[in-house]
Amino acid sequence: MTENGKPIPIGAPSDLHQLYKIEKSFVDLYKKIADCPACELARFRTKTVPGSGPSTSKLMLIGEGPGEKEDELGLPFVGRSGQFLEKMLLSIGLSRDEVYITNVVKCRPPSNRDPSAQEIQACDNFLQQQIAIVNPTVIATLGRFSMSIWFPNEKISQIHGEVREIDGRLIIPMYHPAAALRNGSLRKTVQNDFLKIKKSLIQKTKT
Ligand code: URA
Repeated sequence: MTENGKPIPIGAPSDLHQLYKIEKSFVDLYKKIADCPACELARFRTKTVPGSGPSTSKLMLIGEGPGEKEDELGLPFVGRSGQFLEKMLLSIGLSRDEVYITNVVKCRPPSNRDPSAQEIQACDNFLQQQIAIVNPTVIATLGRFSMSIWFPNEKISQIHGEVREIDGRLIIPMYHPAAALRNGSLRKTVQNDFLKIKKSLIQKTKT
């Protein structure tokens, strides 16, 4: 049983158990997410996937939406994309439990379809509350849906890895890990872009 009283799902890998520990500052928000009826994704979900990681994280990663494994376990990025993401984090000296990870939508779109504009809008208030609680110095958006929150008219192929300061934070648009899994030639690019995250974290600590 974890701090917020939610049981760890049977079969959840033990190396993920610590990610079920939810800090007090997130409990009310995660409960609201768990009960959210605001869009049709609520009808299809097994579990809501609010996010994982400490409220003190300097880095927040924002993906698209839960996939099958995430929907089953209630944690973000625990499938194949997550394994690649963990590798990338390790390559810059970070483990996933030091980083706050979430998605633009907290429920799985059926058959992993793209989330609709209306679904993203319905979930935006939760994301904004997460950003307010964690107050990260660096946000890396993973894929075009989270990128669009800050850069609605840009193309990911043109701005990935560029660091921009917005409202006192550094925002870095990145390719989604699934894109790198689909297209091996993007892996090196993603790895280089992760180095920008590392640099940005160091830069922000100094300023
Ligand atoms: N892809 C995402 O965008 N988010 C997840 O949590 C898993 C896969």
